[in-house]
Amino acid sequence: MLRIASALFLALLVTACGGREGRDVVRQDNKAFQSQTARQCLTSLKSADVKYSPLPNIEYGGGCRTIDTIKLMQFATEATNLGAMTCPLAANFTAWAKHAVRPAAKEYLGSEVVRIETMGTYNCRNINGGRSGKLSQHAFGNAVDVSAFILKNGRRVSVLQGWNGKADERAFLRRLHESACKRFGTVLGPNYNSAHANHFHFDMAKSMKDGSAYCR
Ligand SMILES: [Zn+2]
Repeated sequence: MLRIASALFLALLVTACGGREGRDVVRQDNKAFQSQTARQCLTSLKSADVKYSPLPNIEYGGGCRTIDTIKLMQFATEATNLGAMTCPLAANFTAWAKHAVRPAAKEYLGSEVVRIETMGTYNCRNINGGRSGKLSQHAFGNAVDVSAFILKNGRRVSVLQGWNGKADERAFLRRLHESACKRFGTVLGPNYNSAHANHFHFDMAKSMKDGSAYCR
């Protein structure tokens, strides 16, 4: 377990390169998941049968940091490129995979989704990758970009090709986008801007509770 944790930490350090200035300031502490809310989230993952590994809190510099994050190890569907994720993001992502992606694939495509392809979670960068401006939720491991779905029959449905593609793929992807808007605080897709033509961006910055949720 320790060995896995340190391997993960090294992997995180490597992926941290190439971000904003100050990225070389890496500070780690082991005080993750101290609050009751954070621990409750882990309990909810466990009861949803999700396997995960808690990660240490890390300050990367430049404001980028991963606090109370986990690495998803196993859940209803396999997913690629998942790094550090905040627990609420992981909880919503795994629930979306199970309760939205799987049934929608059966309904619209007559097959099962065996793998969800993502473009990653943690990334020390600004919104839209700009040189200045606000940090993206990716800089906190609080966002995930979903790009494609691999079906049991070998078919690959990507956001890029499918959003305006075949009728069944359009319907499938629109259903997924719609159901994501009920779970994640912010959902951005191809209709938002050209930077999102090839993926859905989900993050937990805004909230349904106070009416600030954003779905485009
Ligand atoms: Zn994103």
